[in-house]
Amino acid sequence: MPTLKTLDLSETGIKRLPSSVSSLECLTALLLSGCRKLSFIPSLRKLKCLISLDLFFTAISEAPVGLESLVNLRYLNLLHTDKLVMSISLMSKLINLEHLELGGPLYKTDVTVQGTQGLKKLEVIVAHFRDVSIFNTFVSFLGNNCATRGYHLTLQGRSYDLGPSDVLCNGNAIIECPMKKVVIKNMVLGNEKVILPADMKELDMIDCQQGTGAGPLCTVLSYGHNNDPHEIELLDICVYEDVEYLWCCNCPFCSSFQLVGRLRLSRLNNLKSFVSPYADSLHQSTLFSRLTDLEIHDCDSMETLIAFGLPALLQNLRTICVSRCEEMKEIVEEDHSVPELVGVDELMALLNSCSPPTIELPMLTSLELFDMPQLDLAPSDSEPK
Ligand SMILES: [Zn+2]
Repeated sequence: MPTLKTLDLSETGIKRLPSSVSSLECLTALLLSGCRKLSFIPSLRKLKCLISLDLFFTAISEAPVGLESLVNLRYLNLLHTDKLVMSISLMSKLINLEHLELGGPLYKTDVTVQGTQGLKKLEVIVAHFRDVSIFNTFVSFLGNNCATRGYHLTLQGRSYDLGPSDVLCNGNAIIECPMKKVVIKNMVLGNEKVILPADMKELDMIDCQQGTGAGPLCTVLSYGHNNDPHEIELLDICVYEDVEYLWCCNCPFCSSFQLVGRLRLSRLNNLKSFVSPYADSLHQSTLFSRLTDLEIHDCDSMETLIAFGLPALLQNLRTICVSRCEEMKEIVEEDHSVPELVGVDELMALLNSCSPPTIELPMLTSLELFDMPQLDLAPSDSEPK
């Protein structure tokens, strides 16, 4: 089959690729995705036309012989090749790579990804990291690489069982719709700040814990030295233990962080409020001014959804969905401050203005509040005393 261009044996039970593959000099695509028993690939040295090599979820433990001589290789998928050990120098020789996927939750080392830092044509990268320092170094490489159109970076601590969503990270989907996404999973955060790419659009934090002294997001995350506005289209936090509030709103990180789409929080058991009660310049904050969708589920320490002063910052909110928050008593906090009264006129004015508080959310189209036994929407002063 000397003229064969595409060889697709994906999802088969093949254990060894026959040595005759070594002489398929016209081959442009060798697709072996999901061949979980495949542990041997013959030399690829003569396959100079090869553009695409997909080894996703195979059992190989060594890089194929001759990989470094594949000068036309643009697409390489090594995702979930958990036994593979590949040197930095070999990776750094694949200079024409445009699309690279590597690593996995069980990956032994971050070494391989360090070899990608000289790959100037890399447009799309999917990579897993275990070490915060190596992740941070890679993020600064990414910031200097003009070719990058999309990335999906996972920083992940303790091993865990592979879930369906981990396998679904599909490179073809990323090529069609380049995303700029970071996932932080199973990490104890705080010892070394995680540096986020300046152009990141989506951040998922899953099953994270606070290390000693860690507090709101700005104590565990950073944008390096760049404090220009960072627009986040989706911030999704599922289980972040012990955190009481997410933004201090008094630091450069909090000032530059802008939610321009959806905020989704679930199972933050100690969360009391989005922002610190000591945020003294909240009225100037643009953190929430372009937030459109708010979703809160299973946050059992929240008594108030929207703290006093926040409605003024939520003018673009279109949907609110809150569920299963055991202690939620009110949606918008009333003004509990006691005004200083200096005369009868002020007292009369105050008494006349004692109407239920009103809030304006001019763009709101959907309000869903369910499964919250403590919630009473009537203002407290209408309750029988
Ligand atoms: Zn802060």
